[in-house]
Amino acid sequence: MVTTTERDGSTWFACEVCGMLFDDREDARRHEESCDGEDPSYLQ
Ligand SMILES: [Zn+2]
Repeated sequence: MVTTTERDGSTWFACEVCGMLFDDREDARRHEESCDGEDPSYLQ
């Protein structure tokens, strides 16, 4: 489940599985759907 975080006046969306932050809710949701929390292949 994607969580929201307020930081520096902006809202960030965090993957609850691995903690990765996104500035777009849709990106975070799509990431989390396939995130298993241990696979590092999502590093850009
Ligand atoms: Zn993740």
